Amino acid sequence: MKLAVPRETSPGETRVAATPESVKKLKGLGLDVVVETGAGHAAHIADADYVAAGASIAPDAKTALADADIVLKVRGPQAAEAAHMKKGAVLAALLAPHTEKDAIRNLARQGVAAFAMEFLPRISRAQAMDVLSSQANLAGYKAVIDAAAQFGRAMPMMMTAAGTIAPARVLVMGVGVAGLQAIATAKRLGAIVSATDVRPSTKEQVESLGGTFIAVMDEEFKNAQTAGGYAKEMSKEYQAKQATLIADTIKKQDIVITTALIPGRKAPTLVSEEMIKSMKPGSVIVDLAAEAGGNTPLTKPGEVANVHDVTIMGYTNLPGRLAVDASSLYARNLFNFISLLVDKKTGQLAIDWDDEIVKGALVAKDGEVVHPTLKG
Ligand code: NAD
Repeated sequence: MKLAVPRETSPGETRVAATPESVKKLKGLGLDVVVETGAGHAAHIADADYVAAGASIAPDAKTALADADIVLKVRGPQAAEAAHMKKGAVLAALLAPHTEKDAIRNLARQGVAAFAMEFLPRISRAQAMDVLSSQANLAGYKAVIDAAAQFGRAMPMMMTAAGTIAPARVLVMGVGVAGLQAIATAKRLGAIVSATDVRPSTKEQVESLGGTFIAVMDEEFKNAQTAGGYAKEMSKEYQAKQATLIADTIKKQDIVITTALIPGRKAPTLVSEEMIKSMKPGSVIVDLAAEAGGNTPLTKPGEVANVHDVTIMGYTNLPGRLAVDASSLYARNLFNFISLLVDKKTGQLAIDWDDEIVKGALVAKDGEVVHPTLKG
């Protein structure tokens, strides 16, 4: 059984879907691993490191993908790459299924069994495969580091002979995995941290990290969580009440980290232009939702903008700015997922199509788009 790791082709993608460590483990499952030359370059992994771990190197994507039974990628393959994949091959990658519907249809036409790692159910058995968590955690950390580097003041309070420097005030909007890591990182740097979310369960989490929780806590708030643990889209009335509270809070902040996402929808606008105008000169916003449309109307996806003397960082791939750690965690996640699909005794694919994890992540199979949220 051949497993291929092509070089990423999406602009700016620095991560890679396998590391020498994961190659060794994949070999341990009985798989032959082929890595396209240069695949690890941006994550500082040389071809020779993969060879030392037992992989062979292919000179191009076509050779890597030819006859591959399993393909591991970070981003979904472009049409030209997908054309090299054989019918029945298994693909695991971040396929952005809600926005890349044509690409998913194309993979289905190719007869690929495609798994969108974003759709992995958030159950405890899948935790070690949870790419959203592993990458969001790094993104939350890097958002604070990027903000601190851009900010023209220090983060902690400092008492010096020349006088006292006040600590920075950081507001984290959206307390999922990324938000929690952002709170923890900002606290470690000595900032005064507050945070907001529409899910009631986050209040205790924020407080346990030493942050102050800020939200309109009405009846709607008490029910604003789906059974899967995700946020619901809030009513216009709630959004207006929340916006008033946030407007009061935001003008006192130095750094705002926004991470609010609603699966399958455009990210909610949480910080209006008026609010940005009210911020102190030199303040910094890092918008982790930039790729999903942004939590501010002034976010420029992929760019660092300066508007009303506020810097708005709209990086669309923050984990990719920590390519070494992000690749290492992502590769472990994928190894754990592939272990579920391979019979350890025979080294052959033995997929239980009724397994909750398999069903949850499978988006295309046998020529059809199969995921219920993508049909029609
Ligand atoms: P996410 O990336 O989908 O969203 C980020 C945060 O934005 C969420 O906390 C969400 O509530 C918040 N948000 C959405 N709209 C908002 C608004 N209008 N105002 C303020 N905040 C808003 O979140 P995530 O990191 O993927 O986490 C989602 C859920 O999954 C959480 O309940 C998390 O605890 C859970 N989870 C479970 C596991 C597991 O294996 N059991 C693993 C990771 C995460």
